[in-house]
Amino acid sequence: MGRLFLLFIVVMLAIWLLRRALAGPRRPGGAADAAAPGELVSCAHCGVNLPRPEARSAGGRYFCSEEHWRLGPRER
Ligand SMILES: [Zn+2]
Repeated sequence: MGRLFLLFIVVMLAIWLLRRALAGPRRPGGAADAAAPGELVSCAHCGVNLPRPEARSAGGRYFCSEEHWRLGPRER
């Protein structure tokens, strides 16, 4: 039972490490910020992807421009 549990932990750790390796390519410099500088958000109006610092945010949504920020999220 104990060995099985240990094996389970090892497998979960391996999957976690593999997912981490696949999700984020290593960047030199080691940014410690919670919000990655290269993080992309999509405009709630037109859906275009843009870097988070360049996006306008309102109510937890992001917009690519002041025009789309004023128009608000598009109804689907
Ligand atoms: Zn937009």
